[in-house]
Amino acid sequence: MKAIRFDIITIFPAIFDSYFREGMIRKGLERKILEIHVHNLRDFTADKWGKVDDIPYGGGAGMVMTPQPLYDAIKALRKKNSGPVIYLSPKGTMLTHSKARQLATQITAAAVPRGKKSGLILVCGRYEGIDQRVIDLCIDREISIGKYVLTGGELPAMVLIDAVSRFIPGILGDEHSHQEDSFSRRLGGKKEYPHYTKPRLFKKLAVPEVLLSGHHGKIEKWRREHLS
Ligand code: SAH
Repeated sequence: MKAIRFDIITIFPAIFDSYFREGMIRKGLERKILEIHVHNLRDFTADKWGKVDDIPYGGGAGMVMTPQPLYDAIKALRKKNSGPVIYLSPKGTMLTHSKARQLATQITAAAVPRGKKSGLILVCGRYEGIDQRVIDLCIDREISIGKYVLTGGELPAMVLIDAVSRFIPGILGDEHSHQEDSFSRRLGGKKEYPHYTKPRLFKKLAVPEVLLSGHHGKIEKWRREHLS
């Protein structure tokens, strides 16, 4: 299978240096299940001073990201990545467990044209956001990670890549299957039961006896009863 390709467009590429170098995402990159390409928006600007923002028409506080560099960056990346173009935005539809799973299924099942890979092209806004015409012309979906406003789309892009990647086959080992995580179908959309590990007694708090019993039926029952 071809790797899943994530392309990120940002004015702060260094933000992504550490997060993807650890844990499951790192393993996914090493095993070539995933590819993550971070692009500096300034590399696409036709402005000789490298400008990518300007004052808003109609006035008001803050700056707006200009359309030309974003348009050209997306156009260039569409030649390599057949996936949807997503603008991370507080105005977008809320990211949920099922939305992340749907996106993962969509991009892993997609028929991929020759010379391209399937994945996501992610646009990270800054300042007051991006010119509406980029949204009208190039953005397939707007996704929000919560009802609050951050200073940029970089954290939301990392959150989205992380949440989607967990559903891409081979990213999580069998030892940690997403099928039994909080919000999964198997847990009836509920939140997961509590976990315990060694020691058996910690600060006078004991591990529930049933989990030490080795009786799978009883353990299953206890776990079902402790979903929330
Ligand atoms: N003026 C905008 C907020 C801009 S915040 C408004 O009122 O809606 C700057 C950038 O941060 C946005 O362009 C977006 O890319 C990102 N961002 C901020 N909060 C976000 C959220 N909750 N989810 C996804 N992206 C967000």
